Formats: sequence, structure tokens, C-alpha cells
Amino acid sequence: MGSRAAEQRQEARQLAARLSAEGVRNVALTWVDNAGIARVKTVPAERLAAAAERGVGMSPVFDVFTSDDAITASDHLGGPDGDLRLFPDLERVTTLAAQPGWAWAPADRYDQLGLPHPACQRQFARRMTERAAAAGLELRMGFETEWVVTRAPAGPPAATGADEPLDYPCTGPAYGMTRVVELSDYLRDVTEALSVQGVDVLQLHPEYAPGQFEVTTAPADPVRAADDVVLVRETIRAVSVRHGLRASFAPSVVAGQVGNGCHLHLSLYRDGTSLHRTHDAQWGLAPDASAFLGGILGALPALLAIGCPSPASYLRLQPSHWAGVYQCWGVENREAALRLITGAPDDPDGGHAEVKTFDAAANPYLAVGAVIAAGLHGIESATRLPEPQTGDPGVLGVRERARRGIVRLPATLTEAADRLEKSAPLYEAMGEVLHGAVLAVRRAEEAHFAESEDDAIAAATRWRW
Ligand code: GLU
Ligand code: MG
Repeated sequence: MGSRAAEQRQEARQLAARLSAEGVRNVALTWVDNAGIARVKTVPAERLAAAAERGVGMSPVFDVFTSDDAITASDHLGGPDGDLRLFPDLERVTTLAAQPGWAWAPADRYDQLGLPHPACQRQFARRMTERAAAAGLELRMGFETEWVVTRAPAGPPAATGADEPLDYPCTGPAYGMTRVVELSDYLRDVTEALSVQGVDVLQLHPEYAPGQFEVTTAPADPVRAADDVVLVRETIRAVSVRHGLRASFAPSVVAGQVGNGCHLHLSLYRDGTSLHRTHDAQWGLAPDASAFLGGILGALPALLAIGCPSPASYLRLQPSHWAGVYQCWGVENREAALRLITGAPDDPDGGHAEVKTFDAAANPYLAVGAVIAAGLHGIESATRLPEPQTGDPGVLGVRERARRGIVRLPATLTEAADRLEKSAPLYEAMGEVLHGAVLAVRRAEEAHFAESEDDAIAAATRWRW
């Protein structure tokens, strides 16, 4: 123990010296709260070793912060008392390309005695990854990042909640090359910043809504995938600022339009072999992969309270918007909440699944942890995927949907939170403190926006994540 601590201290000192030599002055330690907001404490680079040894103080009250910075309370958390320590993950310290003089590291949260904080979302994600590993399963995950870019306002930004005209810096059609030409310097800087930071970009393209783009990054282990999406988002934000632009990752930038998703891709392996490429199995799915995906599908109503955590999320979740609002799965079906991607047969990484419903208001650590918990529960209860659905369930009549057994996922945060409250597997996996804090935040968000019109919800949340 002592020698491990000494080793870590040495490692942190060397890292701090390297950062200083690179001109890094400050290190931002982020963690993501239950409202999906990346909160931060920063330390001068020369304090990094001290931070790695003793942590950096931050109140546990942030576990019950809402997306508008109000404070609620759960049975276990809330109020001004107590302190936690943020410990930077030294393996993920990254020099930020679009914030000269800055580095970033994701943090884990411990109490003052050095015990894991029971509501630490990143440790929850790690616990679930280890639980899967104990069952012999390895997971690879990756988030898609969608965002809408606008010109930054010349004067002071509009007050939260006030509607503002959005000034798009590109005018081209959805998925059109025009947008790439119009914003080529900006988009090149986004990919360049990500790549020098060690993030492996798979592709970048214009999306459907005005000013909307998407970037996808390579799959990684679940905790790393969640770290990556935080880094990707903050990098896009920083590059945008340098170009006089503003990036919105909000689920609904303009109420009624196609929103920003943050789809979660996942694949399963046992002993290094993909469970999506099983010879002779239907859709290539090994029984454990079918059970795991069946577990996710069954838990989706409760998972929505994790993956679609804001009243704004439900503005995005409209049928026929590629957001996956029906509880069904399909092979390459972009209207199914769970999409199976088969890929070319000779592509070893081609077979995987995508949870389409989630958005970027979600805490990505909670999202990966909860999806793993649901999948493992699917295996324990010998779940099987039902028949896949083809086509858009949204265009079917109510009767036909009922005949096919397709149910609409929760259409409000209240409904999703009720399902999470009753979910025994998610309660067990998260533990009472984390589960209670998440629910308290969901209830407070519902109450805050209960009387708000759709436009006001979109305007109030547009720049929060
Ligand atoms: N923007 C869509 C959403 O809200 C997703 C489009 C796509 O399939 O990439 O999730
Ligand atoms: Mg997309």
C-alpha cells in the first residue's frame, strides 16, 4: 500500500513536470453530476501531485444539483455539510489542444477517509464493468456526439430561458457537402484537436437539423468511453469558442425540430471473441449477447430516466425523428430504440448494437453503468430478444403496433422516473444513495419545468450541457 502510494506520488510528480514543460498552467478535474453537467475544480499544474495524493475538495451537495443550478435533496444527500475529494485519473490526463495552457483529467470521488463515495458515477461505471468482467464479459462502448453550432451573439448572451434568434454559420442542406465547405476550417480544427488529444475519430458529418453535426469516436472500455464523450464535448465547445461560435449539445435546441442524440454503441466479447459474430446463430448473436440486449430492451423505460434525464429530452423524443421512441429493436432500423448493426461479415468490429434513445443531458458514466446492469440482469434472467421490427413503428396504426407488441417508451420524465424508482435491478446496481440522488434530481427537474411551454424548456436548457 505504502509503496503503491509512493509510486503514484512519483508518477504524479513526473506528470506535473512534463505538463509544466509543455506549458500547461492549469489542470481541469471534471466529474459529471446527476443532471448531466460536467462540474469542475481546477488546480495549477504544479499542484497535480498534491491533488493525486490528497484529492481536491468538493461538496457532496453537487449530487443533488439540477441543470439550472438549483439544489434539491435526497434522503442521503443535500445541505451544506460534508466534503468529498476529487482524485484525478492520472492515466487520462490530457493536454487540451483548444485551450492552450490547460490540461484535463476526469475525477473519481472519495470521502475524506479515502472510501469510495457511494454516489460516484464514474466508480459506478467501473463497478458495473468489473461485474461484467466477473461474468466473463468484456464490453466495448462508444458515444456519438451530435451538436448544433451557431454564431456566438455579439452582445451578452440572452438570459437563460429567454428566447433568442439562432444565427447559424452554415446554410447548407442536411447531410450536405455545402455545410462542410462553409465550415471547413472549424470542422478541421475539431478533428485535429481531438486527434492530438488521442481521441480516435471515426467520422464527422453534417446532421439533419440546421447547424447540426455529428462526430463518432472509436469504441473503448465503458469508463473510457464515458471519459471520451466528456472530452469530445468540451473540445468541440472550446474549438467553437475560438471560432466565434457556440455549440449546443442539448436534447432539444429548438422545440419541434430534430434534436441532438447521444447514442450509445456497445459490443460484447468473451475471451476476446465477439458475441455478435457467432457462426450459425440468428443475426450472429451468441445466446449471452441476445440475453444482454434483451435485458437492455426490457429495462429501457427505466433506463430513460438515466439516458434522457431532462424535461427537454422528451421534446426530442418524437416518433419518426430517428430518436428511437418505441420499445423495440431492429436490424439496422433507425426508428427502433435498440438498433442492431451487423456490419460487413469480414469486419471484426462491425457487429454491435446501438441504444438510440439517449441524449447528451445524460451522465455518460451513469448511462454505461446502468446499461451494463440491465444487460447483466438480462443474462441472469435468461432473457431472449423478441422478433425484430422493420420499418417505422410511428407510421403504424395503434392497433398494428399493439398487434406487434410495440410499446411507446415513456413520453415524459415523470413516467421514466417512476419506472426507475420501481426498477429493482437498477436500484440494486446503483445502490440506495446514487439511485435516490438521481431520482431526487429528476423530480426536481420535473417540478421546475412543470408549467413551462416547450419553447421555454428548449430555451432554458439550450446551453446547459
Ligand atoms: N438526431 C437524431 C436524434 O435525435 C439522430 C440522427 C441519427 O440517427 O444519427 O437522435
Ligand atoms: Mg446522428
